[in-house]
Amino acid sequence: MLFSTNYGKVCVSTVDPIEKKPIFHYRPGARLYSLGTFGCNMDCLNCQNFALARSNGHDLPYVEMKAEDVVSEAIKKGAHGIGWTFNEPIVWSEFVLEVSKEANKRGIFSMVNTNGFIEPYPRSELLEFTQVMNIDVKGFSEEFYKKNCGAELRPVLDTCVAARRSGVHVELTYLLIPGLNDSTEEVRSFCEWVIDGMGSDTPVHFFRFRPFYRLSGLPEQTIEKLDEAYLIAKEVGLKFPYHAGVVGDQRQNTYCPRCGELVIRRTSEEVIEKICVKKMEVSRFCPTFSDVEVRLVDQACPGCGECIPVVVSQIKTSSQ
Ligand code: SF4
Repeated sequence: MLFSTNYGKVCVSTVDPIEKKPIFHYRPGARLYSLGTFGCNMDCLNCQNFALARSNGHDLPYVEMKAEDVVSEAIKKGAHGIGWTFNEPIVWSEFVLEVSKEANKRGIFSMVNTNGFIEPYPRSELLEFTQVMNIDVKGFSEEFYKKNCGAELRPVLDTCVAARRSGVHVELTYLLIPGLNDSTEEVRSFCEWVIDGMGSDTPVHFFRFRPFYRLSGLPEQTIEKLDEAYLIAKEVGLKFPYHAGVVGDQRQNTYCPRCGELVIRRTSEEVIEKICVKKMEVSRFCPTFSDVEVRLVDQACPGCGECIPVVVSQIKTSSQ
């Protein structure tokens, strides 16, 4: 018999804007009560939260919380949703499920930031009580997943498709690592798969790599490479590619895919308050967002009337 050793053990908690995850097309400006524990089911060479992901919990301080307390705390802090992030949420899915059910009952949504490497049965349980997901597609070859993450690509793509089909709002993140997964061919193949498997309106965030953990010897990713990925995505037909992990970049705004009008403006900035685990910053590469201006009129572009797929109000939760 297997026992969960991290049930209810919260190692990190904070309140973040939803844009930081990154999620750009679901309730812009919403606040998340973000939680993480220890452990992960992958072993990425570049893990920016390895202090959590590689821990068995014996060497980390944590607070034990009950599901009701998490939701009450989220409400007290003025959060609109619970964010499961920092380490991989799948490894404490029993707790994620229990809190998400309680949150949904009390009008709070659940956002899961995941690597998508999960079996079909627990996945379907999770999807039932999840409203929003950001799934990392870490590269677009089985070889990359095997060497860089100790995992497989196919189940991750299956999760992306299953989440989309189940009605969860899904956005994808692709971290561009110099020389490992950022070739024109690989990025193009990924973008073509997104169009076929997920749809051209799926937001895709091309994240800038910075040297860390076991990939400390690699250089920082160039902005030119992010530009290249963005242009490939546009050329292939994706309507909403973005730059991520950068500050003050125009490609973090949403533009109307039909007329080019600016429909959501986002102001990003470096985080001042750092979160540390064992004296190491977790998620230190992620800028935050100080201001989000939504210019949509009835969910449409004010310039040409094109419908922009952005959820601006609370969607129905499973208990409503
Ligand atoms: S999936 Fe995320 S948390 Fe887990 S090892 Fe990879 S980068 Fe770290």
